[in-house]
Amino acid sequence: MSDGRALAREYLEQQRLLGGNPVVTGPASHAAPPTAQPPDRQSADLPPPGVSYDPPSADLFAADPVSQAATLQAVAALVAECTKCRLCEGRANTVPGEGPDDARLVVVGEGPGRVEDETGRPFVGKAGELLTKILGAIDLPRERVFICNVVKCRPPENRLPQYDEIAACLPYLHRQVELLKPKVILAMGGTAAQTLLDTRQSLGSLRNQVHRFRGIPVIVTYHPAALLRNPNWKRPTWDDVRIARRLLD
Ligand code: SF4
Repeated sequence: MSDGRALAREYLEQQRLLGGNPVVTGPASHAAPPTAQPPDRQSADLPPPGVSYDPPSADLFAADPVSQAATLQAVAALVAECTKCRLCEGRANTVPGEGPDDARLVVVGEGPGRVEDETGRPFVGKAGELLTKILGAIDLPRERVFICNVVKCRPPENRLPQYDEIAACLPYLHRQVELLKPKVILAMGGTAAQTLLDTRQSLGSLRNQVHRFRGIPVIVTYHPAALLRNPNWKRPTWDDVRIARRLLD
């Protein structure tokens, strides 16, 4: 008896002992034992109605344009077109930040206010004038500093940026810092400090020490707008910026 016939006989005997009723088509000597199939196997592989299992678009795998931006100007161009969060809806202008490509100090604030939104420039108006004075006090002309914010569009009514808005905008700040490779970052205000340092600690507890963001020293201090409201904070701010100055020297 050939091997095929022996196998078929063995299979039929097994089915008989198990109480099955196999149907063998064609000559028994050539029939292979049937393989078990789930009853609805074919239909189970189809997407349910209304669901497409089409392969994902190639765009999904395209390089992230923010991390690919080669210059600060390229980052600003992406910001200008950005609609990644709801803050795009009320803006007059985006405020990507400004300063030289080789700035050794980067100042990071919270987000644009009314005048920044109108002009497209960071830290203008009274708070901006105070920042210029603070920088002058440590011998840093504003023109030599890169100044920007965590979010690049104005939150309505100058409210705090919300978590999802910060998360959407953060890649721009990260790329700016990557391109600038500054020697020191000055985080002004709680939002900038907590975002860069990824912490919920209060500004008061973060001040007066050197932190790190991707290896770059970060000094935390009050936002100039807060200093305008509370002049008592000017002295501690002065102490903080002197730490930054020492790190730059
Ligand atoms: S705040 Fe940032 S993420 Fe939101 S729309 Fe403006 S640039 Fe885009």
